[in-house]
Amino acid sequence: ANSLFSGLGTTIFSVMSHLAQEYGAINLGQGFPEGLEPADVIAAAARSLAAGPHQYPPMMGLPALRQALAAHEKRFYDLDIDWQTEVMVTSGATEALADALFGLIEPGDEVVLIEPLYDSYLPIIRRAGGIPRLVRLEPPRWSLPREALAAAFSPRTKLILVNSPMNPCAKVFSADEMAFIGDLAIAHDAYIVCDEVYEHLVFDGQSHRPLMAQPGLRERCVRIGSAGKTFSLTNWKVGYVIAAPEVLDPIAKTHQYITFTTPIPLQQAVAEGLAKDDAYFAGLAHDMAARRDRLGAGLRRIGFEVLDCAGTYFLTADFRPLGFAGDDLAFCRHITCEAGVTAVPVSAFYQPGQGGIPTSFARFCFAKRDDALDEAVARLERHF
Ligand code: PMP
Ligand code: GLN
Repeated sequence: ANSLFSGLGTTIFSVMSHLAQEYGAINLGQGFPEGLEPADVIAAAARSLAAGPHQYPPMMGLPALRQALAAHEKRFYDLDIDWQTEVMVTSGATEALADALFGLIEPGDEVVLIEPLYDSYLPIIRRAGGIPRLVRLEPPRWSLPREALAAAFSPRTKLILVNSPMNPCAKVFSADEMAFIGDLAIAHDAYIVCDEVYEHLVFDGQSHRPLMAQPGLRERCVRIGSAGKTFSLTNWKVGYVIAAPEVLDPIAKTHQYITFTTPIPLQQAVAEGLAKDDAYFAGLAHDMAARRDRLGAGLRRIGFEVLDCAGTYFLTADFRPLGFAGDDLAFCRHITCEAGVTAVPVSAFYQPGQGGIPTSFARFCFAKRDDALDEAVARLERHF
């Protein structure tokens, strides 16, 4: 039953957001930003909606957006991308991931995954007939266990899925780790599906380096991004896929039968947003890092052991020093109902039913307004 969609539970993000609403809690659970939505990008969508057209755009995406994405790849990563054959627009990175996994995986193919993992990966891979081979990162450092990763590859490996910057543990893979992953993919002739939705949310003077831009990996990488994250507009669901033409082809074939297209006004506005100057992109990361530090300092003051955060909009914190007796799901429910602050349990990012899953970490989204972060800390402080 586990391999059937009908056997699936409700995603942890909906579960926690509903609970937050029910208890009037400050929602630092589900990852969505507040107070950073760029007014000019929103105005561009409104203009486009009023002007039309109101019928299907091209299946691969509006030419203006595909051109803007190719220019983005050149500007930030020095990647030469052909906008006509190597770029596809999707309805969010969620769709891009489904297109890539359904498009590339044949029943019986093995797929290497790194735990903790984003919650949409496993259900889609299973439904595609893929066999997950999971490798686990360990808190608090979340470094790559190289021997275990090498052992997870086999002659049946079709692809490895790499999420960097990584949700929920806020890890950015090092150049060395990237090279190690790349070498394994080359040795096993595997694709690398790169979930890079947090590409512009890398902090402390570092910047994102796509696997696709590493020597020898251009042709085997599928690079996935999300305008939801880049423009703090998660409601919009505009994602994209960058891949070599032969790799993109089966992914595009899948996309035609899943959504076919994405609304024109949103595509048009994202195309305009991608032309923003460097100050916008640097400012986004800078703002977000300030929020990370604000929440991090508050949580530490309360007694949490807050782990390092190199990117994304999530802080993970060990709550054992607070003396709470219970696992992470119990803790997240407890603080929602009793303190009025919601977080997400990190154990939800592991394949269910396995042993050795960490159960003392909560994930807090810091992409919120200062007053919400301060109030959340004040509520937790009063409670503990
Ligand atoms: N991948 C990761 C790692 C994410 O955190 C998210 C969260 N939204 C997505 C994919 C989905 O992105 P989108 O909202 O564009 O579908
Ligand atoms: N990516 C967001 C998170 O990790 C949630 C997206 C969703 O609700 N599916 O919180």
